Formats: sequence, C-alpha cells, structure tokens
Amino acid sequence: MGTRGREIIGMDVDKLLDLLNRAYASEWLAYYQYWLGAKLIKGPMKDAVAAELNLHAAEELNHAVMLSGRILQLGGTPVLAPEGWAKLSPCKYDAPQDPYVTVLLDQNIEGEQCAITTYKALMDATKDKDMVTYNLALAILEQEIEHEEDLQSLREDLDLMVVRGSK
Ligand code: FE
Ligand code: FE
Ligand code: MG
Repeated sequence: MGTRGREIIGMDVDKLLDLLNRAYASEWLAYYQYWLGAKLIKGPMKDAVAAELNLHAAEELNHAVMLSGRILQLGGTPVLAPEGWAKLSPCKYDAPQDPYVTVLLDQNIEGEQCAITTYKALMDATKDKDMVTYNLALAILEQEIEHEEDLQSLREDLDLMVVRGSK
C-alpha cells in the first residue's frame, strides 16, 4: 500500500474498496460465463460467436487483473474465495443452461448492460475524488460498451439470417 497515494483520495477508502471488490467479483463471473458459453455453444454461426465469446472472456479476466491491482495498491484484499463472487457481484451469473447461440448472446448482452451500469456508477462515485480509479473505470467501461455492441451486432446478424432464410 502506498501511503501518499492513499491520502490523496477524497472519499472513504473502505467504501471505495468495497465498490472495487464488487466490480472485481463481477468480472470473474463474467469471465466464467463467457468461457464456458464458448465451449458449449450450439447453432448457426457458432464458430464466429465462440471466437467473440473467447475474446471477451480474456478481456473480462484482464478487467479482474486491473481491479485487483488497484485494490492491492489501496491496501485492500481482493475477494478471497469464489463463494464471494456471486455474493458481492452487482451483476448476476447466468448459467449457460441452454447453449443455443441466441440464448447465450441474450444472456451475455444482459451481463454487459449490467457491467456498463456498474462502471458508470464507479465513475460517478470517484469523479473528482479518485482520478486513478476514475480512469481505470473509464478504461473498463469503454471495453464493456464495445462488448455490448459486438454481441448486439452478432444478434442482429442472426435475426437477419432467420428472416431472409425463411423467404
Ligand atoms: Fe469486464
Ligand atoms: Fe464485458
Ligand atoms: Mg469484442
């Protein structure tokens, strides 16, 4: 923990660590949901969609890396056990029970929308109070916005395929 780095934070550091740990927990769930979905996926365009799911899995894991770095820097402890992930995460884990491609896409779109809300809230909480976390949240938010759009455009491609294909 860097003492001066902690002193310049204009908000309650424990409150900040709680927000960071919640986001951290959600990234592990997002990672696993994508990672497993990519393995189970069935249906049209499954290879293209699986490639995107795998890429997103890697990016979610990197978000967890970024958040753990900030938590440690502030003298906190990243969530110690997987049981804590679902307990703390602001976004629910949606098990890929039905591996059909559009079902997986819809589940992950919902997850991205929750992530976008989470990082917007983290930015609002840290604005003018902790520039370092604010910038971190912005960097992650940019990627979550990209994820949502990637998935929605794949979803749209599948919809168009069904409409045109039935004529
Ligand atoms: Fe993420
Ligand atoms: Fe994401
Ligand atoms: Mg992508």
